[in-house]
Amino acid sequence: MIHHDTPVPNDRESVTIAEDDEYFYDLLPMLGINVRLVMTPRENTLVWDWGWCYDGALALRLAMRVWDPQVQNEPLGWKKRPTEDKIREAPHADRDPDYNRLRCIHGQYPDDGPCTVTAYCLIDAERRKRDRQSTAW
Ligand SMILES: [Zn+2]
Repeated sequence: MIHHDTPVPNDRESVTIAEDDEYFYDLLPMLGINVRLVMTPRENTLVWDWGWCYDGALALRLAMRVWDPQVQNEPLGWKKRPTEDKIREAPHADRDPDYNRLRCIHGQYPDDGPCTVTAYCLIDAERRKRDRQSTAW
C-alpha cells in the first residue's frame, strides 16, 4: 500500500490518496456536501467497486491512513455506505472478526445497539433483504 501525502490528481474527477496492486483509493468530492472514498480497480478506472461517504476530507484521509484493506472489510468513521447492502469483504477478513462484524449502511454495529441515525435503519435493511429473496423466486 502506497499512501500519497499530497493527493495525486487523476482523470476521474477525484484525487488519488493511496494505491495498491489492485486499486486506486480515490477521494471524490460530492457536490460540495461531503466526500466519498472510492476503490477504483486498476483494470477498469471507469468504475468504482466500493465507496464510503464522509463529512470531510480530513476524516476520510485519516480513515484511509489507519485502514488495512487486506484484513478490514471497510474503513472507519464513514456516515453512509452508498452501495447499501453490498458490503466489501477483505481478502483476510477472518483475521479480525470483531472489526468485521455486520454494520448498517451508516457504519454502525447493530450488535452494539440501535442505529443513532434512524430508528428504521435495520428494519429497512431487513425489508430490502426480504424483498430481494422473494423476487429471487
Ligand atoms: Zn444505520
